[in-house]
Amino acid sequence: MRPGGFQLLRIGGIDVTIDYSWFVIFFLVLYTMAESYFPRVHSDYSTGQYWIMGSVAALLLFVSILLHELAHSFVALRQGIRVEGIRLFIFGGLAEVATDAPNGRQEFLISLAGPATSMGLGAFFLAVHFIAGGVAAAAAGIAWWLGWANILLALLNLIPGFPLDGGRILRAFLWDHWDDMARATRVVSRIGNAFALFLIILGILQFLLTRSLLSGLWLVFIGMFMKQSAVGSYQSLMLKRALEGVEVRQIMSAEVVKVDWLTPLDRLIQDYIYRRQVTRFPVFNREEFVGMVSLGEVKKVSRALWGFKQVRDVMIPVDEVPCLGPTDPAGEALSRMAAAEDGYMPVVEDGVLLGIVTRRDILNLFKIKSDLGAA
Ligand SMILES: [Zn+2]
Repeated sequence: MRPGGFQLLRIGGIDVTIDYSWFVIFFLVLYTMAESYFPRVHSDYSTGQYWIMGSVAALLLFVSILLHELAHSFVALRQGIRVEGIRLFIFGGLAEVATDAPNGRQEFLISLAGPATSMGLGAFFLAVHFIAGGVAAAAAGIAWWLGWANILLALLNLIPGFPLDGGRILRAFLWDHWDDMARATRVVSRIGNAFALFLIILGILQFLLTRSLLSGLWLVFIGMFMKQSAVGSYQSLMLKRALEGVEVRQIMSAEVVKVDWLTPLDRLIQDYIYRRQVTRFPVFNREEFVGMVSLGEVKKVSRALWGFKQVRDVMIPVDEVPCLGPTDPAGEALSRMAAAEDGYMPVVEDGVLLGIVTRRDILNLFKIKSDLGAA
């Protein structure tokens, strides 16, 4: 599950990606600053100047959020924790840490680094405001707004519900205290969930009482996003635990229906896809695994040609197929399937197809394990 975006830059080995949704918030901030905030607070500039001030403010806010996430990332790196990258999207930024911190103390430091940086930036911009006050009024005005925006960012992030930084800090405390990460995660997920519900209700009330559609909807969206992350993070932690120590070969199905690469497409549809109610198959040239074919590839070919084209004409060759190894951890298989947006992967060793793993296999295992755990 990886929505579209592009890589902006690379700082200290960390890729910074901008999600397309981020432009929405960027232009919203720019527009609000240029058309509403600056004209209200500083009355003596032209429209063009307000837009320049708005652009500077929006860009520096963006840099501030980036610095907040970089602070998380660098502290994580210093602790020897791999950072996948930083993602800026509609609700701000997200430092994607590859593995969980091994203990509460490290998690505490990583989580604190972001809000501490925002606080520091807030103090810095307010200082700039007071220094620039007499000399450059426009710069002082921008600095004033940025100062409070950063302080607000720090305070909001310190609300103690997952997935906010405050939730992580609280989890770190509880984790250290109880020595039970799952229990600590459950508690802060519930707080995060409750806070998210509060935001959603607040957004609806705001809409009903003040007829302010935009800010009302905004709160509802942020609430929904938080709720999803709060619940999702707990579930993914439990999933990770259930799959600990499980290898791909233990859950793959070794009995695989093979398709010969010379099979005409109409036969593939009739004899394989219709008959077996499966939409994709590994393709073989005699004993050699050469690729994968699915309904998607067949559909790209005009129906009139199905009798004339063969599987080898449309299949995805094996070197372009994402594969798993038999000893890969099941948890990693799941995240690779998510990354490839594909719930189905061949398991291959030295070019030989050993079996197939589906997302459903892994989730079934999780369900069985949690049923056993509950019993
Ligand atoms: Zn943060």
